[in-house]
Amino acid sequence: KAKRDGRSSYRYFSPEMNVSILEHIQLEQRLRRAVLQGEFFLCYQPLVNLSDRSIIGVEALIRWRDPKFGLISPEQFIPMAEETGLIEPIGEWVIEQALIDLHVWHSMGYMINMAVNVSGRQLINNNQTDFDLVIDKLLKKYDIKPKHLHIEITESMLMDDTEQCLHALKAIRDLGMDIYIDDFGTGYSSLSYLKRFPISVIKIDKSFVDNMLDCQSDANLIKAIVMMGKSLELKLVAEGIETEEQLQFLKSLGCDFGQGYLISHPLPNQELTALLEKSYFPQFLHHDNLAEIP
Ligand code: C2E
Ligand code: MG
Ligand code: MG
Ligand code: MG
Repeated sequence: KAKRDGRSSYRYFSPEMNVSILEHIQLEQRLRRAVLQGEFFLCYQPLVNLSDRSIIGVEALIRWRDPKFGLISPEQFIPMAEETGLIEPIGEWVIEQALIDLHVWHSMGYMINMAVNVSGRQLINNNQTDFDLVIDKLLKKYDIKPKHLHIEITESMLMDDTEQCLHALKAIRDLGMDIYIDDFGTGYSSLSYLKRFPISVIKIDKSFVDNMLDCQSDANLIKAIVMMGKSLELKLVAEGIETEEQLQFLKSLGCDFGQGYLISHPLPNQELTALLEKSYFPQFLHHDNLAEIP
């Protein structure tokens, strides 16, 4: 989005901070070092069935702990990683680490799904290996069925390099993975994308969930998205649910799945294990399992 701001690329990674070019360069150098030193880790946010709050899956969210600056938000460094190409090694690390953890959870009997966020530059990359081949290799290495690994992409990604993007996404879909469209409603949505791209899940952006109880037009927008999604046989996930009232309202609108601080913050892997031990129950009890999309 901010990429479209044009020439002043330093405004791109942190518009509100008015960061100097020097700091921008410093961030880039630190990011390069972080890749070499392995300063990243993942947190996992549960995705639940809104009817019984059972955990169906988790979303992997990257965290970077810089030795000097401490935790740096992905919103600050992912755009920089995309700009510099560092997203390719970082993104591959994310998928591998997510599969390592998923392998552990599966071996404990927690048959959850794993969703990872993927940037456009990972789909259409500079090295010679196709994204789906990289994924396929990792799935085999960690003995994970493709239906358990899901990919989240944003709407705006579909806008750039549409044909190549479509090709890469179809290859992923052919492996048997689900593709989610993230932050839905914030980009330049065109309904035709939903038909053209092999998408199976829509994630309704947090900003609509935030305002829907006070703002009739946001509520109507969510209603429209849910109705449209259902008629296209897509699953619907609401992001950023923070209150019980929001959860009940979303349920009443027919939204089946959700994520948010009300249910759980993103958690480091051991804390997620503890949560699963406390509250997981087997998926065959779910009639509406995200993994079962044909
Ligand atoms: P996203 O994929 O839309 O992830 C949802 C963001 O909302 C996460 O922020 C999550 O921590 C936050 N969130 C979830 N529930 C709530 C809630 O109830 N209230 C509030 N206020 N926030 C909530 P996070 O982890 O800072 O990630 C921000 C964005 O960075 C992500 O948005 C995603 O676009 C990007 N990102 C994160 N990890 C990766 C990654 O591994 N690769 C790529 N390419 N992008 C990533
Ligand atoms: Mg996401
Ligand atoms: Mg999102
Ligand atoms: Mg987001």
